[in-house]
Amino acid sequence: MTAKRQAQGSRVKYLPIFLNLDGAQVLIVGGGEVALHKLAVLQRTGAEITVVAAQPLAQIAARAAHGGLRLVVREFVPEDLQDMRLVIVATSRPAVNRWIAGHCEARRIPVNVVDDREASRFIVPAIIDRDPVMIAVCTGGAAPVLARRLRERLEALMPQRLGELALWLGTLRGAARRLRGTATRRRYFEALLDGPAARRFVDGDRRGAFAAAARLLARAAHAPPAPGEVVLVGAGPGDPELLTLKALRALQDADVILYDRLVAEGVLELARRDALRLCVGKTAGRASMSQQAINAALVEHARRGRRVVRLKGGDPCVFGRGGEEMQALAAAGIAYSVVPGITAALGAAAYAGIPLTHRDHAHSVSFVTAHADHDGKEPDWRALAMPGQTAVFYMGLSRIEHIATQLLAHGAPPDRPASLILQGTTASQRVIVGSLRDIHGRSARAAAVSPALLIVGDVAALHAELGWFHNDAAAPLSASA
Ligand code: SAH
Repeated sequence: MTAKRQAQGSRVKYLPIFLNLDGAQVLIVGGGEVALHKLAVLQRTGAEITVVAAQPLAQIAARAAHGGLRLVVREFVPEDLQDMRLVIVATSRPAVNRWIAGHCEARRIPVNVVDDREASRFIVPAIIDRDPVMIAVCTGGAAPVLARRLRERLEALMPQRLGELALWLGTLRGAARRLRGTATRRRYFEALLDGPAARRFVDGDRRGAFAAAARLLARAAHAPPAPGEVVLVGAGPGDPELLTLKALRALQDADVILYDRLVAEGVLELARRDALRLCVGKTAGRASMSQQAINAALVEHARRGRRVVRLKGGDPCVFGRGGEEMQALAAAGIAYSVVPGITAALGAAAYAGIPLTHRDHAHSVSFVTAHADHDGKEPDWRALAMPGQTAVFYMGLSRIEHIATQLLAHGAPPDRPASLILQGTTASQRVIVGSLRDIHGRSARAAAVSPALLIVGDVAALHAELGWFHNDAAAPLSASA
């Protein structure tokens, strides 16, 4: 499942790679400002650069005179491509550029045509340069201005000494070899980066940084192997930006992630790349792992010294069986912690413009599971049917008719507002507004699919007035279409 889910990820047009051009032959065709700019970037790579241009700028000729490149003053001929590993085409004539690009393609030489994405085999990203740390920003050529803005923001975030920090960390790897096991080493480097050592380094206090690193190393060398632990993490209702900062940190630090089917793809994408990801939720046609098996897996992974994240939709402890898992972990003596998440009721109601309490309409709110327990126990319908409150039903889609019938039978009026929120907080969120009398019919006509929440109470009608999240997944991207 995991591999499939990853393999199915959306198709991308470009593969970001960092190319080592040291000693490689690179050709720039054109001798204007753009060519000069590309030249400046390329010269830092150690490539052997040839510039072919009929009328090169004086600065290019000057660089050639200093021996930094080979300058050929004439028009391009296809033979210029001989032995080239990479070509940048930057003449002022688009048709000529394309013709040259065609020759490159025929010879399978990667080519970039400046300002002509269609004719380019590769594109040159905007970069944040903290050599050896390089951050490349690419919008697939769709929005160069956006790329530039992102670059500015990232520039502001990246300490100037980031490159030096990377080099320093590289030098510390030798000393860290005496630490047992890759997990211990990784934790040592994480502590370095998250703590005073890295902070002092980027502030320019090298002596302080070295001392802090030495202290950490000494501590790590004598510490027993770090014990495993489990973090129960709430993934929120769908929109990945509703994750908490702690959840993000836990996902970044995880060795193993056991996640439910309800967890949004966008949330999983934020997890550490090399964490082992196991889907333990129900998928179409396949039974989920039993709760017992999940508990056992959590204990087992933690016993092997791993940092385990148990990732659940919404909040781990709201209809998420987080309580049972904590009990299992406590019984097994495994350390655990909980990172709460935004439960579906809070997320979906917020995005639907439905305040769950309101001084004029509701003084309390109940979260109810519509799924009857093993023993078939029903919720307290009489209490839920009372006026002046809001009831939110989880897992209720297939039981809407039953819910409405029971509430009516216990005294709720047929015109009590009831709204159904499907795929709340996501780009495909839909809200179906009705009343206890007709919500079942409306949901059937709308072919509602899970996950869905049913909100019953006067506040449910406020969506019409207060709804603000106007997504339309089907809307065309282009305004003119
Ligand atoms: N622990 C989760 C709930 C798990 S039970 C939480 O705190 O949100 C699963 C039920 O949650 C679904 O059947 C549905 O009723 C509700 N749910 C989860 N995500 C939802 C979403 N994005 N929109 C609407 N309902 C959702």
